[in-house]
Amino acid sequence: MVNVPELFGSEVFNDEAMKKYLPKGTYKELKKTIEDGKPLDINIANVVAHAMKEWAIEKGATHFTHWFQPMTGITAEKHDSFISPVAGGGVIMEFSGKELIKGEPDASSFPSGGIRATFEARGYTAWDPTSYAFIKEGSLCIPTAFCSYTGEALDKKTPLLRSMECINKQALRVLRVFGDNETTHVSTTVGPEQEYFLVDSEVYKKRKDLIYCGRTLFGARPPKGQELEDHYFGSIKPRVAAYMRDLEQELWKYGIYAKTKHNEVSPAQHELAPIFDTTNIATDHNQLTMEIMKKVAEKHGLVCLLHEKPFAGVNGSGKHNNWSMSTNTGKNLLNPGKNPRENTLFLVFLAAVIRAVDEHQDLLRISVASAGNDHRLGANEAPPAIISMYLGDDLTEVLRSVLSGKEYISEGKPVMETTAEVLPNFTKDTSDRNRTSPFAFTGNKFEFRMVGSSENIACANFIINTMVADVLEDFADQLEKAEDVKAAAEALVKKTVEEHKRIIFNGNNYSEEWVEEAEKRGLLNLRSLPEALPLYTSEKNVKLFTKHNVLSEVELRSRRDVLLEKYSKIINIEALTALDMAKKDIFPAVSQYIGELAKTVNLVKSVGADVTPTADIESINKLTNLLNCFAKKIDALDEAVVGAKDVTDVAENAMYFKEKVLAAMQELRAVADEMESSMSAKAWPYPSYGALLFSV
Ligand code: ADP
Ligand code: MG
Repeated sequence: MVNVPELFGSEVFNDEAMKKYLPKGTYKELKKTIEDGKPLDINIANVVAHAMKEWAIEKGATHFTHWFQPMTGITAEKHDSFISPVAGGGVIMEFSGKELIKGEPDASSFPSGGIRATFEARGYTAWDPTSYAFIKEGSLCIPTAFCSYTGEALDKKTPLLRSMECINKQALRVLRVFGDNETTHVSTTVGPEQEYFLVDSEVYKKRKDLIYCGRTLFGARPPKGQELEDHYFGSIKPRVAAYMRDLEQELWKYGIYAKTKHNEVSPAQHELAPIFDTTNIATDHNQLTMEIMKKVAEKHGLVCLLHEKPFAGVNGSGKHNNWSMSTNTGKNLLNPGKNPRENTLFLVFLAAVIRAVDEHQDLLRISVASAGNDHRLGANEAPPAIISMYLGDDLTEVLRSVLSGKEYISEGKPVMETTAEVLPNFTKDTSDRNRTSPFAFTGNKFEFRMVGSSENIACANFIINTMVADVLEDFADQLEKAEDVKAAAEALVKKTVEEHKRIIFNGNNYSEEWVEEAEKRGLLNLRSLPEALPLYTSEKNVKLFTKHNVLSEVELRSRRDVLLEKYSKIINIEALTALDMAKKDIFPAVSQYIGELAKTVNLVKSVGADVTPTADIESINKLTNLLNCFAKKIDALDEAVVGAKDVTDVAENAMYFKEKVLAAMQELRAVADEMESSMSAKAWPYPSYGALLFSV
């Protein structure tokens, strides 16, 4: 029996632990520092560090590490033990305030997009007291931000923290205009729903592509995929259920609110959703969740795949980013309330999001751009690369009334009448769902569905926060001057909706007609990372980020280059892996199989049988033709990879990798998959898609 409340947060130096281990005065000072966002006094830091160490040692920890999120996309840590020598031999366990507040990892070995070439290699990590320290594998982990010697952000946390400050400032101004003098802080909140695949580790180990790239580069379609729709919400198999139970318990120990679990659409695909938290904590927790998902899988003889597209032909994995804003008094600013038409404050915040999404479609697309996610966003899969918003019938009706000045007639909450008498009747939600929309209003929050399953949600959220803050600033500027706030706000909402209504689309986002319609509306359709990323440093975007102190121009350029370089490197690794598999395994296997067929033909002929083995001969012809073609495709891919060296500009290089290298890989794969379908399963060098997708 697990005692969940006791287990929950047991590995975290949370409020409860702070109260227990810190002197009262220090606890109060620390809380105040966290709430006011002020720098920490070194004397307090010394006391906190000592208490943290005592707590950690009691929990069996021997080391500490600053835990940070460099531009690699994963977390980084460097462990130091608490030991300190004493005169006469032996050690004592020590941890100072200085060690808690500041670390000095070498910045030159992390991606910096050119910052390190112009500045020194030295980098610093700085404690983020808004996120609790925790114990992992015997080390006290201290969440930190990571920056260069000259103060440029080299990580994903710093711009997120900055963006939270700027949206707080602007949202508060709007609240004040509406007479709210009670709220002292507005936070953005996020609940990230995490999708993932599980495969058996024995099968996984036989696939070089999964090992090196996290996705399959070859693989003919199995007879069964997701067409029967029997996996989504299906009953969970015992081995997966055991994994999920173990996983939840691990997550609870870290104070992560793991709440919902279910099977997803594709075979072998599952989802885990936590209860939402402030953006900063949700981000740290999601990074930790991804790490723990992989670790727990190992214990169960499984491998957890977080890649956005591990398998062609079935759904890929995303991370629905449920986003809202809430006050420290507990009010959700995106809650429409009973009568949204009369809820002017809600309409102002809604209008701000509508305008922000329309004005910064490019940034939203960029915020989720990665080599893996391109397989989803650019390929008519969920969701498309075109940004639009779904508001649902009820809110659309509200906005129609704002525009026309005509009365808004709410349908109220319709009652769902179940036809069997034993079943209860219940009220329905006022709007249905639209699973195809990239940015959907879902009752009291927006669900941004384009985020990739392996991505750090900090990116999407610092961008959403900043762009909404920018509009709120303009709104506050206007409303602060108004004499009649309600009338001015009504007019502002009306004008905003009129100017930005093109971004609202309640229909099917996967349809061909939408692509045409979106083009007519002038919406962007940035299908791939190399198309999207150059826009990151446009004049509009430099202005946006520098104005709100979220990213300097140098930081923005560095981020753009890091992302472009990473894209090229990933495709390069994929291409080299594909070539390795093609030359060392697939080609020899097919060639040998043809040889065996030829032996069979000779054998049949040698016994003087009355029939000719025409089927075998046809197979030999077909496979030999395919193999010849395969050899040509190998050469073409080889050439494409070599050619990349001549394209030196980062943006052009990424585009080259997409258009030449990725395209050549796809052609190579097509031939391989056809050969796989035409051969004996035993002769094929890798476990099939069927074996992978139905391995657990
Ligand atoms: P649904 O299943 O309708 O999408 P859920 O209630 O399951 O809605 O929520 C999905 C995710 O959205 C969960 O992680 C949930 O905690 C999160 N969420 C709910 N309310 C908010 C909010 N105000 N801000 C951010 N995330 C939220
Ligand atoms: Mg959802």
